[in-house]
Amino acid sequence: MDLTETDAELAFRADARTWLTANVPHGLPSGDTRTGFAEHLQWEKQLHAARWAVVSWPEEYGGRGASVWEWLAFEEEYYRAGGPQRVTQNGIFLLAPTLFAFGSKEQQDSLLPRMSAAEDLWCQGWSEPGSGSDLASLTSRADQADGGWVLNGQKTWTTRGSFCTHLFGLFRSDPASERHHGLTYFLVPLDAPGVTVRGFARLDGDEGFAEVFLDNVFVPDSAVLGGVGKGWSVAMATTGSERGLTLRSPGRYTATVARLLDLVGDETLDNGVRDRLAQAWMDSEAYRLFTLRQVSDEQAGRGRPGESSLNKLFWSELDIRLHELALDVLGSEAELEGPWSKGFQFSLSGPIYAGTNEVQRNIVSERLLGLPRR
Ligand SMILES: Cc1cc2nc3c(=O)[nH]c(=O)nc-3n(C[C@H](O)[C@H](O)[C@H](O)COP(=O)(O)OP(=O)(O)OC[C@H]3O[C@@H](n4cnc5c(N)ncnc54)[C@H](O)[C@@H]3O)c2cc1C
Repeated sequence: MDLTETDAELAFRADARTWLTANVPHGLPSGDTRTGFAEHLQWEKQLHAARWAVVSWPEEYGGRGASVWEWLAFEEEYYRAGGPQRVTQNGIFLLAPTLFAFGSKEQQDSLLPRMSAAEDLWCQGWSEPGSGSDLASLTSRADQADGGWVLNGQKTWTTRGSFCTHLFGLFRSDPASERHHGLTYFLVPLDAPGVTVRGFARLDGDEGFAEVFLDNVFVPDSAVLGGVGKGWSVAMATTGSERGLTLRSPGRYTATVARLLDLVGDETLDNGVRDRLAQAWMDSEAYRLFTLRQVSDEQAGRGRPGESSLNKLFWSELDIRLHELALDVLGSEAELEGPWSKGFQFSLSGPIYAGTNEVQRNIVSERLLGLPRR
């Protein structure tokens, strides 16, 4: 694999770097608070106005038609410049790839431009009070009605649900079905009559989560994504994006290691910390090279189902190690230092969200290693 960037790719990277360096805001409050979310949204709209919000999408949907290599370069530049978390991520990184793969032209034309402009803000409605890892046990229902469907049930752990305008979620549309069969993927406006969204705080106090209650909510047939009864396979495409490269590209981790190196500066380190720092650099570089190989494989038709679970295991565990190291370097100052200690707390949730790491290990053992199912 030749990793040399072409002249066009170098020019794209340089444009991105120039614009981001001049425009990235620093020190925004957490996007998981109402005021912080509003400030992040201003930034997302600025990105969109300059056509940097969704670089890999076609131009008619707000993108630049960039290749996946250019998108990776953009991501590296975004995090290198200290770009803030993307509060539109559940739409642009999770739902959008699924819409490109399974959506009708009408759905793409109506939803994607509003998503890239940060006008429609999407949250993910998978988990329910009794269904987390075992998502196929979900009980939220969709009953067919004249011209559409009536939804009932409850979703929970809905990230930034209180601040979003729309939810994508799974519902049981065939009452006689079991497990992965008879599920349908719906696109639901949160201002529809019968929807109640109740925000709740995380342990750190930020109102990052919501419960979403659906009480006889009518949605038209056009709210079905990917076909009635096909919900499981459509949802698995979304989780592939969430676990893999789309949500957590390597630029995020190479930039964190660069910040770690800045943090250390000229300090004399004990050998243990120096070794961990070297390991951190190698790990982030290994993730970068792994994803480049993965993209090449996918483009050559050699993609492997379930491989995004490997990414998820690697990035979630790496993120914890990087933040632990930063806190050790900071020592007693760590408690006074906002971003690293906040980042450490969030890193601890990495092995849980996007499917727990225990579940990812099951997937790797069964689908990639071919070990017997439990
Ligand atoms: C920060 C964060 C954001 C989230 N955002 C969203 C969101 O936006 N939308 C959404 O729908 N959900 C969201 N979630 C919920 C998340 O998807 C679930 O927490 C996750 O799927 C685990 O489900 P659970 O919490 O019910 O735990 P459980 O499924 O009850 O698991 C409990 C423990 O048992 C283990 N376990 C379960 N089954 C197995 C198995 N078969 N083999 C081995 N071990 C097993 C798990 O690994 C875990 O350690 C979010 C979670 C977090 C932490």
